[in-house]
Amino acid sequence: MSHIFPRHTKASLPTVARGEGVYLYDQSGKAYFDGSGGAAVSCLGHGDKEVTDAIKTQLDSVAFAHTSFFTSDPAERLADKLIEHAPEGIDRVYLVSGGSEAMEAALKLARQYFVETGQPQRRHVIARRQSYHGNTLGALATGGNEWRRAPFAPMLVETTHISPCFEYRGKRDEETTVEYGLRVANELETEIQRLGEDSVIAFVAEPVVGATAGAVPAVEGYFKRIREICDQYGVLLILDEVMCGMGRTGTLFASEQEGITPDIVAIAKGLGAGYQPIGAMLCSAKIYEAIESGSGFFQHGHTYVGHPTASAAALAVLTKLTDGGLVDRCAVMGDKLQDALQQAFGQHPNIGDIRGRGLFRALEFVEDRETKAPFAPDQALHKTLKKEAFEAGLICYPMGGTIDGKRGDHILLAPPFIMEDAHLDEIVTKLQTAIDRTL
Ligand code: PLP
Repeated sequence: MSHIFPRHTKASLPTVARGEGVYLYDQSGKAYFDGSGGAAVSCLGHGDKEVTDAIKTQLDSVAFAHTSFFTSDPAERLADKLIEHAPEGIDRVYLVSGGSEAMEAALKLARQYFVETGQPQRRHVIARRQSYHGNTLGALATGGNEWRRAPFAPMLVETTHISPCFEYRGKRDEETTVEYGLRVANELETEIQRLGEDSVIAFVAEPVVGATAGAVPAVEGYFKRIREICDQYGVLLILDEVMCGMGRTGTLFASEQEGITPDIVAIAKGLGAGYQPIGAMLCSAKIYEAIESGSGFFQHGHTYVGHPTASAAALAVLTKLTDGGLVDRCAVMGDKLQDALQQAFGQHPNIGDIRGRGLFRALEFVEDRETKAPFAPDQALHKTLKKEAFEAGLICYPMGGTIDGKRGDHILLAPPFIMEDAHLDEIVTKLQTAIDRTL
Protein backbone atom coordinates (compact mmCIF):
# COMPACT_ATOMS: atom_id res chain seq x y z
CA MET A 1 0.00 0.00 0.00
CA SER A 2 1.21 3.49 -0.86
CA HIS A 3 1.40 6.13 1.87
CA ILE A 4 1.45 9.00 -0.63
CA PHE A 5 -1.60 11.30 -0.42
CA PRO A 6 -2.48 11.48 -4.12
CA ARG A 7 -4.60 14.11 -5.86
CA HIS A 8 -7.36 11.53 -6.41
CA THR A 9 -7.44 9.00 -3.62
CA LYS A 10 -8.79 6.28 -5.91
CA ALA A 11 -6.17 6.88 -8.58
CA SER A 12 -3.74 4.17 -9.46
CA LEU A 13 -0.83 5.70 -11.33
CA PRO A 14 2.20 4.20 -13.05
CA THR A 15 5.53 4.99 -11.43
CA VAL A 16 7.77 7.27 -13.44
CA ALA A 17 11.19 5.70 -13.87
CA ARG A 18 13.14 8.20 -15.94
CA GLY A 19 12.93 11.13 -18.31
CA GLU A 20 14.91 11.89 -21.42
CA GLY A 21 14.31 14.70 -23.88
CA VAL A 22 10.60 14.99 -24.68
CA TYR A 23 9.77 11.58 -23.16
CA LEU A 24 8.93 10.19 -19.73
CA TYR A 25 9.21 6.45 -19.14
CA ASP A 26 7.35 4.33 -16.62
CA GLN A 27 8.78 1.28 -14.85
CA SER A 28 7.65 -1.06 -17.60
CA GLY A 29 9.68 0.98 -20.09
CA LYS A 30 6.64 2.51 -21.81
CA ALA A 31 7.43 5.94 -23.30
CA TYR A 32 5.08 8.92 -23.00
CA PHE A 33 5.53 12.02 -25.14
CA ASP A 34 5.31 14.85 -22.60
CA GLY A 35 2.87 16.86 -24.67
CA SER A 36 1.88 19.16 -21.83
CA GLY A 37 5.19 19.38 -19.97
CA GLY A 38 3.21 18.12 -16.96
CA ALA A 39 1.16 21.28 -16.47
CA ALA A 40 3.20 23.57 -18.75
CA VAL A 41 6.31 23.06 -16.63
CA SER A 42 8.94 21.07 -18.53
CA CYS A 43 9.89 23.62 -21.18
CA LEU A 44 13.37 22.10 -21.61
CA GLY A 45 12.20 18.50 -21.57
CA HIS A 46 13.83 15.97 -19.28
CA GLY A 47 17.44 15.20 -18.37
CA ASP A 48 18.95 18.51 -19.47
CA LYS A 49 22.60 18.13 -18.51
CA GLU A 50 23.41 21.83 -18.30
CA VAL A 51 20.66 22.34 -15.75
CA THR A 52 21.45 19.24 -13.71
CA ASP A 53 25.14 20.17 -13.72
CA ALA A 54 24.30 23.67 -12.47
CA ILE A 55 22.30 22.11 -9.63
CA LYS A 56 25.11 19.69 -8.74
CA THR A 57 27.72 22.45 -8.76
CA GLN A 58 25.57 24.54 -6.44
CA LEU A 59 24.97 21.59 -4.10
CA ASP A 60 28.72 21.05 -3.91
CA SER A 61 29.27 24.62 -2.67
CA VAL A 62 26.17 25.37 -0.57
CA ALA A 63 22.66 23.96 -0.91
CA PHE A 64 20.82 26.50 1.23
CA ALA A 65 21.37 29.60 3.31
CA HIS A 66 18.52 31.57 4.86
CA THR A 67 17.90 34.99 3.32
CA SER A 68 17.76 36.73 6.69
CA PHE A 69 21.52 36.02 6.94
CA PHE A 70 22.83 35.81 3.38
CA THR A 71 22.13 36.58 -0.22
CA SER A 72 23.63 34.16 -2.76
CA ASP A 73 25.36 34.41 -6.07
CA PRO A 74 22.79 32.33 -8.06
CA ALA A 75 19.84 34.28 -6.60
CA GLU A 76 21.50 37.62 -7.42
CA ARG A 77 22.41 36.53 -10.93
CA LEU A 78 18.97 35.09 -11.57
CA ALA A 79 17.32 38.34 -10.47
CA ASP A 80 19.68 40.37 -12.68
CA LYS A 81 18.94 38.22 -15.69
CA LEU A 82 15.19 38.31 -15.13
CA ILE A 83 15.25 42.11 -14.92
CA GLU A 84 17.46 42.33 -18.01
CA HIS A 85 14.67 40.59 -19.97
CA ALA A 86 11.60 41.85 -18.08
CA PRO A 87 9.14 44.42 -19.44
CA GLU A 88 10.30 48.04 -19.19
CA GLY A 89 9.84 49.42 -15.67
CA ILE A 90 9.97 46.07 -13.87
CA ASP A 91 12.86 46.39 -11.47
CA ARG A 92 12.85 43.94 -8.56
CA VAL A 93 12.49 40.19 -8.09
CA TYR A 94 11.18 38.24 -5.10
CA LEU A 95 12.07 34.55 -5.39
CA VAL A 96 9.66 31.97 -3.98
CA SER A 97 8.99 28.26 -4.44
CA GLY A 98 6.07 28.13 -6.88
CA GLY A 99 3.15 29.83 -8.57
CA SER A 100 0.72 30.13 -5.68
CA GLU A 101 3.44 31.62 -3.50
CA ALA A 102 4.27 34.10 -6.26
CA MET A 103 0.63 35.16 -6.43
CA GLU A 104 0.31 35.45 -2.64
CA ALA A 105 3.37 37.68 -2.61
CA ALA A 106 1.91 39.77 -5.46
CA LEU A 107 -1.39 40.31 -3.65
CA LYS A 108 0.25 41.17 -0.35
CA LEU A 109 2.76 43.51 -1.96
CA ALA A 110 -0.05 45.31 -3.78
CA ARG A 111 -1.96 45.80 -0.53
CA GLN A 112 1.16 46.89 1.38
CA TYR A 113 1.98 49.42 -1.35
CA PHE A 114 -1.27 51.25 -0.64
CA VAL A 115 -0.80 51.02 3.12
CA GLU A 116 2.66 52.56 2.74
CA THR A 117 1.43 55.30 0.43
CA GLY A 118 -1.39 56.46 2.67
CA GLN A 119 -4.33 54.74 1.00
CA PRO A 120 -5.21 52.01 3.51
CA GLN A 121 -8.88 52.18 2.48
CA ARG A 122 -8.00 50.33 -0.73
CA ARG A 123 -8.84 46.68 -0.13
CA HIS A 124 -10.68 45.19 -3.13
CA VAL A 125 -9.18 42.90 -5.73
CA ILE A 126 -10.89 42.42 -9.08
CA ALA A 127 -10.13 39.35 -11.20
CA ARG A 128 -11.85 37.45 -13.99
CA ARG A 129 -14.16 34.46 -14.15
CA GLN A 130 -12.56 31.34 -15.68
CA SER A 131 -9.20 32.09 -14.18
CA TYR A 132 -6.88 30.19 -11.88
CA HIS A 133 -4.26 31.85 -9.73
CA GLY A 134 -3.26 29.07 -7.34
CA ASN A 135 -4.60 26.93 -4.53
CA THR A 136 -3.47 28.75 -1.39
CA LEU A 137 -6.32 30.72 0.16
CA GLY A 138 -5.40 34.19 -1.16
CA ALA A 139 -4.66 32.96 -4.65
CA LEU A 140 -7.73 30.72 -4.61
CA ALA A 141 -9.92 33.67 -3.63
CA THR A 142 -8.54 35.60 -6.59
CA GLY A 143 -9.21 32.84 -9.12
CA GLY A 144 -12.65 32.66 -10.67
CA ASN A 145 -12.85 28.93 -11.09
CA GLU A 146 -16.10 27.96 -9.38
CA TRP A 147 -15.54 24.30 -8.60
CA ARG A 148 -12.11 24.89 -7.12
CA ARG A 149 -13.48 27.66 -4.91
CA ALA A 150 -16.76 26.07 -3.85
CA PRO A 151 -15.74 23.90 -0.85
CA PHE A 152 -13.61 26.71 0.60
CA ALA A 153 -15.94 29.63 -0.15
CA PRO A 154 -16.49 30.60 3.50
CA MET A 155 -12.74 30.92 3.99
CA LEU A 156 -12.02 33.12 0.97
CA VAL A 157 -11.40 36.86 1.01
CA GLU A 158 -14.11 38.58 -1.00
CA THR A 159 -12.97 39.16 -4.59
CA THR A 160 -15.14 40.25 -7.50
CA HIS A 161 -14.89 38.72 -10.95
CA ILE A 162 -15.59 40.27 -14.33
CA SER A 163 -15.84 38.54 -17.71
CA PRO A 164 -12.76 37.00 -19.24
CA CYS A 165 -11.73 38.03 -22.75
CA PHE A 166 -12.67 34.81 -24.52
CA GLU A 167 -13.49 35.51 -28.15
CA TYR A 168 -14.72 32.03 -29.13
CA ARG A 169 -17.30 32.03 -26.34
CA GLY A 170 -17.93 35.70 -25.66
CA LYS A 171 -17.95 37.73 -28.87
CA ARG A 172 -21.37 38.67 -30.21
CA ASP A 173 -22.02 38.36 -33.95
CA GLU A 174 -22.88 42.04 -34.31
CA GLU A 175 -19.60 43.36 -32.85
CA THR A 176 -16.07 43.42 -34.23
CA THR A 177 -13.23 41.73 -32.38
CA VAL A 178 -11.92 45.09 -31.24
CA GLU A 179 -15.37 46.20 -30.04
CA TYR A 180 -15.68 42.95 -28.12
CA GLY A 181 -12.30 43.47 -26.44
CA LEU A 182 -13.23 46.99 -25.39
CA ARG A 183 -16.64 45.90 -24.11
CA VAL A 184 -15.19 43.28 -21.79
CA ALA A 185 -12.27 45.50 -20.75
CA ASN A 186 -14.70 48.26 -19.84
CA GLU A 187 -16.34 45.92 -17.34
CA LEU A 188 -13.30 46.69 -15.20
CA GLU A 189 -14.15 50.38 -15.10
CA THR A 190 -17.76 49.63 -14.20
CA GLU A 191 -16.65 47.33 -11.40
CA ILE A 192 -14.15 49.87 -10.02
CA GLN A 193 -16.89 52.51 -9.97
CA ARG A 194 -19.31 50.10 -8.28
CA LEU A 195 -16.81 49.23 -5.55
CA GLY A 196 -15.69 52.83 -5.07
CA GLU A 197 -13.10 54.67 -7.14
CA ASP A 198 -10.44 54.74 -4.44
CA SER A 199 -11.12 51.34 -2.94
CA VAL A 200 -9.50 48.92 -5.39
CA ILE A 201 -5.98 47.55 -4.94
CA ALA A 202 -5.46 45.56 -8.09
CA PHE A 203 -6.81 43.91 -11.19
CA VAL A 204 -5.46 40.40 -11.71
CA ALA A 205 -5.37 38.49 -15.01
CA GLU A 206 -3.52 35.80 -16.91
CA PRO A 207 -2.39 37.32 -20.25
CA VAL A 208 -3.11 33.96 -21.88
CA VAL A 209 -5.56 31.99 -19.74
CA GLY A 210 -4.20 28.55 -18.97
CA ALA A 211 -5.89 25.58 -17.42
CA THR A 212 -9.37 26.96 -16.77
CA ALA A 213 -10.22 28.12 -20.28
CA GLY A 214 -7.48 26.48 -22.36
CA ALA A 215 -4.78 28.70 -23.88
CA VAL A 216 -7.02 31.72 -24.43
CA PRO A 217 -5.22 34.93 -25.45
CA ALA A 218 -7.07 38.23 -25.19
CA VAL A 219 -8.06 40.02 -28.39
CA GLU A 220 -6.03 42.95 -29.69
CA GLY A 221 -6.49 46.10 -27.68
CA TYR A 222 -8.00 44.44 -24.62
CA PHE A 223 -4.95 44.73 -22.36
CA LYS A 224 -4.14 48.25 -23.60
CA ARG A 225 -7.60 49.35 -22.45
CA ILE A 226 -7.15 47.45 -19.15
CA ARG A 227 -3.84 49.28 -18.58
CA GLU A 228 -5.54 52.64 -19.29
CA ILE A 229 -8.33 51.94 -16.79
CA CYS A 230 -5.85 50.80 -14.12
CA ASP A 231 -3.82 53.99 -14.61
CA GLN A 232 -6.90 56.20 -14.53
CA TYR A 233 -8.06 54.80 -11.18
CA GLY A 234 -4.65 54.18 -9.61
CA VAL A 235 -5.26 50.42 -9.59
CA LEU A 236 -2.25 48.09 -9.85
CA LEU A 237 -2.17 45.61 -12.72
CA ILE A 238 -1.00 42.17 -11.59
CA LEU A 239 -0.35 39.72 -14.41
CA ASP A 240 -0.25 36.05 -13.60
CA GLU A 241 2.26 34.52 -16.00
CA VAL A 242 2.79 31.42 -13.88
CA MET A 243 1.65 29.18 -16.72
CA CYS A 244 1.98 31.35 -19.82
CA GLY A 245 5.28 33.05 -18.96
CA MET A 246 8.93 32.05 -19.44
CA GLY A 247 8.72 31.77 -23.18
CA ARG A 248 5.70 29.48 -23.37
CA THR A 249 3.76 31.81 -25.70
CA GLY A 250 6.79 32.63 -27.88
CA THR A 251 8.09 35.65 -25.95
CA LEU A 252 9.77 35.44 -22.57
CA PHE A 253 6.91 37.35 -20.94
CA ALA A 254 3.47 36.83 -22.47
CA SER A 255 2.61 40.49 -21.82
CA GLU A 256 5.27 41.58 -24.34
CA GLN A 257 2.77 40.66 -27.06
CA GLU A 258 0.17 42.98 -25.55
CA GLY A 259 2.45 46.03 -25.60
CA ILE A 260 1.84 46.81 -21.94
CA THR A 261 3.82 46.68 -18.73
CA PRO A 262 2.26 45.28 -15.58
CA ASP A 263 3.01 46.69 -12.13
CA ILE A 264 3.55 43.21 -10.76
CA VAL A 265 4.03 39.92 -12.56
CA ALA A 266 4.10 36.37 -11.19
CA ILE A 267 6.07 33.57 -12.86
CA ALA A 268 6.85 29.96 -11.93
CA LYS A 269 6.52 26.61 -13.77
CA GLY A 270 8.87 27.16 -16.76
CA LEU A 271 11.24 29.18 -14.56
CA GLY A 272 12.50 26.01 -12.91
CA ALA A 273 11.35 23.84 -15.83
CA GLY A 274 10.65 21.11 -13.27
CA TYR A 275 14.30 20.80 -12.24
CA GLN A 276 13.65 22.67 -9.00
CA PRO A 277 10.49 24.16 -7.45
CA ILE A 278 10.79 27.92 -7.94
CA GLY A 279 8.61 30.92 -8.73
CA ALA A 280 9.07 34.67 -8.66
CA MET A 281 7.15 37.86 -8.16
CA LEU A 282 8.55 40.82 -10.08
CA CYS A 283 7.51 44.42 -9.42
CA SER A 284 8.06 47.91 -10.71
CA ALA A 285 10.51 50.39 -9.25
CA LYS A 286 7.56 52.55 -8.13
CA ILE A 287 6.26 49.82 -5.84
CA TYR A 288 9.65 48.82 -4.51
CA GLU A 289 10.61 52.43 -3.79
CA ALA A 290 7.37 53.02 -1.90
CA ILE A 291 8.23 50.18 0.46
CA GLU A 292 11.90 51.21 0.66
CA SER A 293 11.10 54.80 1.55
CA GLY A 294 8.27 53.71 3.85
CA SER A 295 8.61 50.88 6.34
CA GLY A 296 11.61 49.46 4.48
CA PHE A 297 10.26 45.96 4.99
CA PHE A 298 8.04 43.75 2.82
CA GLN A 299 5.89 42.12 5.45
CA HIS A 300 6.04 38.67 3.95
CA GLY A 301 8.42 35.72 3.68
CA HIS A 302 8.93 31.99 3.49
CA THR A 303 11.78 29.79 4.66
CA TYR A 304 12.83 28.97 1.09
CA VAL A 305 12.73 32.49 -0.37
CA GLY A 306 15.76 32.97 -2.65
CA HIS A 307 16.77 29.30 -2.37
CA PRO A 308 20.30 29.04 -3.81
CA THR A 309 19.95 25.62 -5.44
CA ALA A 310 16.56 26.41 -6.95
CA SER A 311 18.00 29.73 -8.16
CA ALA A 312 20.99 27.99 -9.75
CA ALA A 313 18.63 25.70 -11.66
CA ALA A 314 16.45 28.62 -12.79
CA LEU A 315 19.48 30.63 -13.88
CA ALA A 316 20.61 27.74 -16.08
CA VAL A 317 17.06 27.38 -17.47
CA LEU A 318 16.72 31.10 -18.16
CA THR A 319 20.11 31.21 -19.87
CA LYS A 320 19.01 28.45 -22.24
CA LEU A 321 15.69 30.16 -22.89
CA THR A 322 17.23 33.53 -23.71
CA ASP A 323 20.88 33.19 -24.81
CA GLY A 324 20.25 29.64 -26.07
CA GLY A 325 17.44 30.80 -28.35
CA LEU A 326 14.79 28.45 -26.99
CA VAL A 327 12.12 31.14 -26.67
CA ASP A 328 12.48 31.89 -30.37
CA ARG A 329 12.35 28.18 -31.10
CA CYS A 330 9.13 27.95 -29.09
CA ALA A 331 7.55 30.63 -31.27
CA VAL A 332 8.54 28.82 -34.48
CA MET A 333 7.51 25.36 -33.28
CA GLY A 334 4.30 26.82 -31.87
CA ASP A 335 3.21 28.05 -35.30
CA LYS A 336 4.02 24.64 -36.74
CA LEU A 337 2.02 22.90 -34.02
CA GLN A 338 -0.98 25.15 -34.65
CA ASP A 339 -0.81 24.36 -38.39
CA ALA A 340 -0.51 20.63 -37.75
CA LEU A 341 -3.46 20.64 -35.33
CA GLN A 342 -5.52 22.78 -37.67
CA GLN A 343 -4.80 20.50 -40.60
CA ALA A 344 -5.61 17.33 -38.68
CA PHE A 345 -8.57 18.49 -36.61
CA GLY A 346 -9.73 21.81 -38.09
CA GLN A 347 -12.76 20.17 -39.71
CA HIS A 348 -13.52 17.68 -36.95
CA PRO A 349 -17.25 17.86 -36.13
CA ASN A 350 -16.55 17.85 -32.37
CA ILE A 351 -13.67 20.29 -32.22
CA GLY A 352 -14.91 23.86 -32.11
CA ASP A 353 -11.73 25.83 -31.58
CA ILE A 354 -7.98 25.27 -31.84
CA ARG A 355 -6.17 28.18 -30.23
CA GLY A 356 -3.23 29.52 -28.29
CA ARG A 357 0.18 31.10 -28.74
CA GLY A 358 3.64 29.59 -29.04
CA LEU A 359 3.77 26.06 -27.66
CA PHE A 360 0.69 26.74 -25.56
CA ARG A 361 -2.27 25.35 -27.48
CA ALA A 362 -5.70 23.96 -26.73
CA LEU A 363 -8.49 22.13 -28.48
CA GLU A 364 -12.03 22.82 -27.32
CA PHE A 365 -14.50 19.98 -27.76
CA VAL A 366 -18.15 20.60 -28.64
CA GLU A 367 -21.15 18.43 -29.32
CA ASP A 368 -22.18 20.75 -32.16
CA ARG A 369 -19.75 22.98 -34.06
CA GLU A 370 -22.48 25.29 -35.35
CA THR A 371 -24.09 26.10 -32.03
CA LYS A 372 -20.86 25.54 -30.03
CA ALA A 373 -22.97 23.45 -27.63
CA PRO A 374 -20.74 21.61 -25.19
CA PHE A 375 -20.97 17.96 -24.20
CA ALA A 376 -22.96 17.13 -21.05
CA PRO A 377 -20.72 17.77 -18.03
CA ASP A 378 -21.41 14.33 -16.51
CA GLN A 379 -19.76 12.75 -19.57
CA ALA A 380 -16.46 14.28 -18.36
CA LEU A 381 -15.15 14.02 -21.89
CA HIS A 382 -11.85 15.71 -21.03
CA LYS A 383 -11.04 12.98 -18.52
CA THR A 384 -11.61 10.21 -21.06
CA LEU A 385 -9.50 12.10 -23.60
CA LYS A 386 -6.67 12.38 -21.10
CA LYS A 387 -6.90 8.67 -20.28
CA GLU A 388 -6.99 7.56 -23.91
CA ALA A 389 -4.13 9.88 -24.84
CA PHE A 390 -2.08 8.54 -21.93
CA GLU A 391 -2.78 4.97 -23.07
CA ALA A 392 -1.62 5.99 -26.54
CA GLY A 393 1.59 7.43 -25.04
CA LEU A 394 0.74 11.13 -25.09
CA ILE A 395 0.50 13.34 -22.02
CA CYS A 396 -1.97 16.19 -22.41
CA TYR A 397 -3.58 18.38 -19.78
CA PRO A 398 -7.38 18.16 -19.68
CA MET A 399 -9.93 20.47 -18.10
CA GLY A 400 -13.71 20.67 -17.88
CA GLY A 401 -15.75 23.77 -17.13
CA THR A 402 -14.23 25.80 -19.96
CA ILE A 403 -17.42 27.84 -20.32
CA ASP A 404 -18.77 28.60 -16.87
CA GLY A 405 -16.91 26.34 -14.51
CA LYS A 406 -19.39 23.54 -15.19
CA ARG A 407 -19.76 22.95 -18.93
CA GLY A 408 -17.21 22.67 -21.71
CA ASP A 409 -14.16 20.47 -22.29
CA HIS A 410 -10.70 21.21 -23.59
CA ILE A 411 -7.27 19.67 -23.61
CA LEU A 412 -4.12 21.72 -23.32
CA LEU A 413 -0.86 21.01 -25.13
CA ALA A 414 2.36 22.57 -23.85
CA PRO A 415 5.24 20.43 -25.15
CA PRO A 416 8.93 21.08 -24.44
CA PHE A 417 10.53 23.80 -26.58
CA ILE A 418 13.17 21.28 -27.72
CA MET A 419 10.60 19.26 -29.66
CA GLU A 420 11.50 18.51 -33.28
CA ASP A 421 9.41 18.60 -36.46
CA ALA A 422 9.02 14.81 -36.33
CA HIS A 423 7.20 15.14 -33.02
CA LEU A 424 4.39 17.10 -34.68
CA ASP A 425 3.27 13.92 -36.42
CA GLU A 426 3.59 11.95 -33.22
CA ILE A 427 1.38 14.40 -31.31
CA VAL A 428 -1.26 14.44 -34.05
CA THR A 429 -1.31 10.65 -34.50
CA LYS A 430 -1.57 9.90 -30.80
CA LEU A 431 -4.20 12.58 -30.31
CA GLN A 432 -6.17 11.20 -33.24
CA THR A 433 -6.13 7.75 -31.58
CA ALA A 434 -7.35 9.25 -28.30
CA ILE A 435 -10.11 11.24 -29.99
CA ASP A 436 -11.26 8.25 -32.07
CA ARG A 437 -11.42 6.06 -28.98
CA THR A 438 -13.27 8.74 -26.98
CA LEU A 439 -15.91 10.01 -29.40
N1 PLP B 1 -1.38 30.72 -11.62
C1 PLP B 1 -1.60 30.03 -12.76
C2 PLP B 1 -2.02 30.76 -13.98
C3 PLP B 1 -1.44 28.64 -12.78
O1 PLP B 1 -1.68 27.96 -13.90
C4 PLP B 1 -1.02 27.99 -11.60
C5 PLP B 1 -0.85 26.52 -11.57
O2 PLP B 1 -1.33 25.80 -12.40
C6 PLP B 1 -0.80 28.75 -10.44
C7 PLP B 1 -0.97 30.11 -10.49
C8 PLP B 1 -0.36 28.09 -9.17
O3 PLP B 1 0.95 27.62 -9.31
P1 PLP B 1 1.49 26.45 -8.35
O4 PLP B 1 0.71 25.23 -8.71
O5 PLP B 1 2.95 26.36 -8.70
O6 PLP B 1 1.28 26.88 -6.96
